[in-house]
Amino acid sequence: MSARPFGFDTLQLHAGQTPDPTTGAQAVPIYQTASFVFKDFASAEAIAAVEDFGFEYSRVGNPTNDVLERRIAALEGGTGALALGSGSAATAYAILNITHAGEEVVAAKTLYGGSFSLFANTLPRHGVRTTLVDSANPENFAAAITERTRAIFVETIGNPDINIVDFEAVARVAEQNGIPLIIDNTFATPYLFRPFDYGANVVVHSATKYIGGHGTSIGGLIVDGGNFDWSNGKFPDFTTPDPAYGGFIHWDKWRDVPGAGNIVFVMKARLHYLRDLGACLSPFNAFLLLQGLETLSLRLEREVASTQRIAEHLASHAEVEWVSYPGLADNPSHALARKYLPRGPGAILSFGIRGGLERAKKFIESLELFSFLANVGDSRSLVVHPATITHSQLTKEEQILAGVRPEQIRLSIGTENIDDLLWDLDQAFSRSAG
Ligand SMILES: *Cc1c(COP(=O)(O)O)cnc(C)c1O
Repeated sequence: MSARPFGFDTLQLHAGQTPDPTTGAQAVPIYQTASFVFKDFASAEAIAAVEDFGFEYSRVGNPTNDVLERRIAALEGGTGALALGSGSAATAYAILNITHAGEEVVAAKTLYGGSFSLFANTLPRHGVRTTLVDSANPENFAAAITERTRAIFVETIGNPDINIVDFEAVARVAEQNGIPLIIDNTFATPYLFRPFDYGANVVVHSATKYIGGHGTSIGGLIVDGGNFDWSNGKFPDFTTPDPAYGGFIHWDKWRDVPGAGNIVFVMKARLHYLRDLGACLSPFNAFLLLQGLETLSLRLEREVASTQRIAEHLASHAEVEWVSYPGLADNPSHALARKYLPRGPGAILSFGIRGGLERAKKFIESLELFSFLANVGDSRSLVVHPATITHSQLTKEEQILAGVRPEQIRLSIGTENIDDLLWDLDQAFSRSAG
């Protein structure tokens, strides 16, 4: 390929794929196979020793998944990526890749419910302590860091509070402390925000959401920014001989791979955590996620425009107490949204309905087009009640900490006609009244 820097709409269709050499198939073939026949003994040994990037066994690598990995790396502006069986696996592996028992992570407190639980409960049981901070002030991250902190973790658009962090300020805090900034970019996608352009070092995705875009498959991705110095002394696993691989040193082996660059983070995650813990993505799901990814920008353009309209409609509605969407001028994240997400702050909003929890339940049951379910990023519009569903595993205190309120309803806006969506909301307000 020539050196032309192709645009996003072009890359989402073409990046990472060369037509199948055997058949010329234009669509990415589904390589539905557990393992791959070795050419001969020498190449088998080279692949086993990771001297060659050839495929061996689909837990660790597969050609369909490989296209998805290359495509998301191109769209994010990263050096490489790792496809996984879920977004939760992507977050967990990204943290495990750089922490040991006795070390710490500092994270924003407004997180996806599953990530909140990972940080609040599961990681501490394995000795990794997490401090959850109010991300509105970047100083809070700095104040929570100790000499044992190994990462800062935030979401591009917080959940369910729909808040935005000052990424450059937080990236500076991470850099000053010699630790990576990991950003969960699920809600924004690289179409709306590219974290590496603002100093992030690792990106994780739940591909289940906007990347797949059709609510068909669970999948996750880790993307390597290739821009972090893992040899700074805080990450000895990267710079000392790895007994699991004949004593090679990850930092030496992957920091300048021809055609890719520094892919140290994702290679180590692949060779330790995907190989040993095994949350691999099925090639069939990789195919469905690729199919969705081809139209990512088209869907989001429509969805973001509709979300802005709906946010404005709700903000002036008598039955609504408050609306949280950074596209509204009075939102606390409005200025940050304009700076970092000029194409719009996503297609998810939350609002408080007058009448509290009971009214919220009636309202949700009265909707006809919006599907009541626990997901976001589908082409169909979705509704959920965070306090009783997505964030229900949090204690009352944790819910308050994470910004989850009883009257709160979260909407994920799809590609339906905007007039139909506004109609559905209005008829549900009427039917749930009184
Ligand atoms: C859904 C989601 C996850 C978890 O991803 P799964 O694919 O459901 O495992 C993580 N982060 C965010 C922001 C999400 O929305």
